[in-house]
Amino acid sequence: MKLYNSLTKKLEEFKPQTGNSVGLYTCGPTVYDHVHIGNLRTYIFEDTLRRSLKQLGYKVKHVMNITDVDDKTIARSHQKYPSDDPKEALKKLTRHYEDVFIKDAEALGIDFSESKIVRATEHVNQMQELIRNIPNKYMAADGVYFDITKYPDYGVFVNLDQSHTHHRIENDEYDKDHVADFALWKKKKEDHEPSWVFELDGQQLDGRPGWHIECSAMATHYLGQPFDIHTGGVDLKFPHHENEIAQSKSANGKDLSNVFLHAEHLLVDGHKMSKSLNNFYTLDDIAKKGYDPMAFRLLVLQSHYRSQLNFSWESLEAAQNALNTIMQWADLKHQPNATVMDEGIDANRWIKENFLAPLADDLNTPTALSELFKLIARVQPGEKLSDQNYASILTEIDKQLGLDVSDRPDIDEEQKQLIKQREQARDQKDWGKADELRKQLEEQGVGINDTPAGPIWFRL
Ligand SMILES: [Zn+2]
Repeated sequence: MKLYNSLTKKLEEFKPQTGNSVGLYTCGPTVYDHVHIGNLRTYIFEDTLRRSLKQLGYKVKHVMNITDVDDKTIARSHQKYPSDDPKEALKKLTRHYEDVFIKDAEALGIDFSESKIVRATEHVNQMQELIRNIPNKYMAADGVYFDITKYPDYGVFVNLDQSHTHHRIENDEYDKDHVADFALWKKKKEDHEPSWVFELDGQQLDGRPGWHIECSAMATHYLGQPFDIHTGGVDLKFPHHENEIAQSKSANGKDLSNVFLHAEHLLVDGHKMSKSLNNFYTLDDIAKKGYDPMAFRLLVLQSHYRSQLNFSWESLEAAQNALNTIMQWADLKHQPNATVMDEGIDANRWIKENFLAPLADDLNTPTALSELFKLIARVQPGEKLSDQNYASILTEIDKQLGLDVSDRPDIDEEQKQLIKQREQARDQKDWGKADELRKQLEEQGVGINDTPAGPIWFRL
């Protein structure tokens, strides 16, 4: 498999460190609100990566964190539950939004059943241990900081301007113009802040971890160091991933991960999503407009993960139509009237050459999908593939792309009877009755296409 490694800025042949097992760490959500569709794009990319690695024969050990303590979760939980104990308030808020996130992920076909999902608050000891092991740290009045001037390798993902390196930054998120020493640990300042006991070099520093140390500690706790692949959205490259690498390498001299993959931004109508532009969408907004969450998944897969994806309601509408086309094609396997046309279609060969090959080439989902649509277009009205070919191809689509099309049920017996009765009415030229029966079927969500081979139903 070829992957574009952000560390080397090259397309490389991927080789795991040990045999065919892959240690994969993906940065998870900060659970203080609904995640937006830009974040969801990244999770869909990571799910597709995990699926493809697995289909290509790798054993994937996937770890993802839940950030359930940081500036935002603390501020929001205090605002929402001001009279609760700070740790209880934090737990109430973050567990709620963790559930919301998991439900969104499930609706989008993101499969966490073989993944290890770990919460930051349950790994504070590992974070403290890592901080102890970092030689180039120093204490300031408000916490413990990483001194980037004493770490020569700083600047993997950012161009260093030395004039910026002699001040400190407390915020977890900052931009490229603010390269500075960053917080490893933040001392408790206000009563409403949850805190953990931490004694460092004889000083009592009760407080909480910085954001970046969370991922470094949890990733290496479960996957060792270095591990194989680390991923995230491109917005996490700097400062988050830069700082993760710096802390981990500084603590024990080894790289954090051999490969970094970054998914590009999702734009809305050509703009970055922001609350001020009122273009900040969640999966709920998509569902409220009547779209299938899977249409959003398909929209994401139609773009390469390293290209910006422009979301608009028109593009989602087009993706919904494309999804309907795939589902109607999948439903052909149930059609008794359609004639089997398998000429020149060898499912196993098609899967290998037209579907797996593009996915093994830096996860080229748009090419895999366009190959699928070419195959769909070869099947004329009134035709279908053999059961065998459908079984192989639909299963592969689901395993690789998670579109959930292989298990679609047949229509029920009553609906089949209505189709038969409509055919009889048409044979007797009783157009009124035929029309009546068509309406009855449509009320049950079943449409009819009359083809040379006979009526073919589809779900409305
Ligand atoms: Zn992270």
